[in-house]
Amino acid sequence: MTDLYLGGSWRDPVAGGRREIRSPADGGLVATVAEATGADTEIAIAEARKAFDEGPWPATPERERGALLLRVADLLERDKKDFARAESLDTGKRLVESEYDVDDVVASLRYFGGIAGTEAGRVVDTGRDDAVSRVVYEPVGVCGLITPWNYPLLQTSWKVAPALVAGNTFVLKPSELTPSTAIMFMRLLEEAGLPPGVANLVLGAGAEVGAPLAEHPDVDMVSFTGGLATGRLIMASAARTVKKVALELGGKNPNIVFADADFETAVDFALTAVFLHSGQVCSAGARLLVEDSLHDAFVDEVVRRAGRIRLGGPFDPEAEAGPLISAAHLAKVEDYVAAGVAEGAVLRCGGRRLPGAGNFYPPTVLDECHRDMRVVREESFGPVLTVERFSGEDEAVRLGNDTDYGLAGAVWTQDAGKAQRVAGRLRHGTVWINDYHPYVPQAEWGGFKQSGVGRELGPTGLGEYREIKHVWQNVRPQPQRWFRS
Ligand code: NAD
Repeated sequence: MTDLYLGGSWRDPVAGGRREIRSPADGGLVATVAEATGADTEIAIAEARKAFDEGPWPATPERERGALLLRVADLLERDKKDFARAESLDTGKRLVESEYDVDDVVASLRYFGGIAGTEAGRVVDTGRDDAVSRVVYEPVGVCGLITPWNYPLLQTSWKVAPALVAGNTFVLKPSELTPSTAIMFMRLLEEAGLPPGVANLVLGAGAEVGAPLAEHPDVDMVSFTGGLATGRLIMASAARTVKKVALELGGKNPNIVFADADFETAVDFALTAVFLHSGQVCSAGARLLVEDSLHDAFVDEVVRRAGRIRLGGPFDPEAEAGPLISAAHLAKVEDYVAAGVAEGAVLRCGGRRLPGAGNFYPPTVLDECHRDMRVVREESFGPVLTVERFSGEDEAVRLGNDTDYGLAGAVWTQDAGKAQRVAGRLRHGTVWINDYHPYVPQAEWGGFKQSGVGRELGPTGLGEYREIKHVWQNVRPQPQRWFRS
């Protein structure tokens, strides 16, 4: 299969490399795809540059660019089953979750397609009757888009849709572990009539194929979603050419439960907060903060229910959660749990990988944790819940903010005033009150502190892909005589 998409044609990698994609659920072969090298990324960047500098896309009216996205949304709905199946095969996530993901992608495409052309900048009062002044938007140029493996198509759509509406061209580098839906998505863009060279796809390892996107002088912006360590590398590389950078990094997200919360609902959501997609969610509520007086009953119930969550492959109708993405990731999660126990955490359930094929690790609860433990401070990105106690509003806020990250958090209480006060003081990009996980494409998503730079979704998510230009016109030009000679 020729599955690099470069300058509007499907090509093999220059060096002819291939990579096997293996199922996280049973290790079976899912697909064999192209494995590019830096030489292919160079070609992709050159194609994107040419399409931006010479092609029709940047000058196409924004409404038309949006209309193309709306066509892609329709095509994706047509092919929803195929996309969901491919996503589940690559990631191991349950088919029903992949179907929700495709619905969310369609919603993002329709959101950005729908707002296209609705706002063309501002007219500014110059304070003079001989001058008019406009602030207008232009595309940034060539964008390098780098995405992770946990929500492969969804993260892709959050970048591709605003990049296209704003008139950019791009090179997409999906995670090497989950490339299938990115390949399929390029085919939809092609079918919808995107001009050649606007969208380019390279596949392969991050350091080899992704790194040039952050380094290359012909790339104007790099938008990255992934881990903190990689984000730092990308930001440092981008500094050499002072590229625009958008970063969506990890989180260590506090789920704060006050004693007056609705018990059953808060327990139920504490489970979904952290164990959805086996914890491989950037906004996972992996850090449960429970008010002292509620602690024992609450944690007992969380542990009881966590122990009953059924693990299985993506097409097992009984499964409630799936495997971890890779054996290496499973080993990392095991290390975090071992470190937590060594530092004094009490293992209440889970904590041991499942025997047999597949990267299955059970829902795990570590009680009596404290802020200095590595498993509390760092993102395990697995089904691992750490529990800390607090007493009162101030301590809840202090602990909730005591993290280098700032992506998301939640507050559970029936006191509306307290909920608002705590939400207002939390230094996180999203705060849920008596809920966990929902988002809408109309609202911005992103992190404070080391969770990232910039925002995806919402009007700001489109703004990331725009340059802003001030156009001043003197409508009655005449000599100014600043210099008399
Ligand atoms: P990762 O950082 O290992 O990889 C992400 C992408 O970067 C992959 O495509 C990878 O190939 C590429 N990459 C790796 N090294 C690179 C380099 N030197 N230069 C350029 N590209 C490189 O992350 P991951 O393990 O795929 O994803 C998990 C992480 O993503 C978690 O930390 C999670 O929190 C984060 N994430 C954040 C959000 C968010 O919205 N904030 C959403 C999803 C995932």
